[in-house]
Amino acid sequence: MIKLFSFVTTFLLLLALTTSVSAQSQIPERNGDYPDPEHPGVRVRVFVHEAGKPQPPTSSPVLTCTNPDSTAVVDPLSWKLPTGPWTYQLNLSSVPSSVGSTNLPTIAGSAFGEWQSAQGKVAFVKGASTTTNKQALDFKNIVSWGRTSGTALAVTYTRYYTATHLVADVDTIMNQKFPWSWTNPAANDCSLYDSRYDAQDILTHEIGHWMGLADEYTQEYADNTMFGYGSKGETKKNTLTTGDKTGLTAIYH
Ligand SMILES: [Zn+2]
Repeated sequence: MIKLFSFVTTFLLLLALTTSVSAQSQIPERNGDYPDPEHPGVRVRVFVHEAGKPQPPTSSPVLTCTNPDSTAVVDPLSWKLPTGPWTYQLNLSSVPSSVGSTNLPTIAGSAFGEWQSAQGKVAFVKGASTTTNKQALDFKNIVSWGRTSGTALAVTYTRYYTATHLVADVDTIMNQKFPWSWTNPAANDCSLYDSRYDAQDILTHEIGHWMGLADEYTQEYADNTMFGYGSKGETKKNTLTTGDKTGLTAIYH
């Protein structure tokens, strides 16, 4: 009887420990580079884009169709995508109606294509659609709208192997609580949506983190795709600047 009691106590203690570890294994939704508690040898870099940060003054209004170049070179981080095909999966059912689920393949195709054409190593492939709207090391590289905590506009989780510094899994979650739209570059109607964030503009920036590029916050980077602040109505991040491409080439040379 004593042994049985002891066993039960131990079991309960283990259960408590397991619960505790499970709770700690949540990846923080804060900017940072963390060990993945469930996967030894994998780290996860989290990029959180806060909305409502002050936009530094720029020489030209944001709400224009202009797309100024910048030669400020974007800094590399500590990972890269492996050479060859890299499959992404879109959650079409998550797309806000103000963007349109049927538009997401076009939006993503343009955003990934911009990065693909700027280097010759990684080829993006659109995989099967997904219903997943949460980040996880599940070897699905998803683009989805979903819930992010606090005031984050979008969060990208890049998991990479510490031994090789190659990406294992990367997910971008766009915050469904914010107002979104999409300005089709072909339609040239970029002043229509000045009260909403442009899906292609923000997604193109996020894919820069998939590639291994950092956020830049100083004024010289204000026109770069990897500028760390986003604005409503902005579309200039759709296309890479010279400085974004130079940073990319330093990684994929
Ligand atoms: Zn960023």
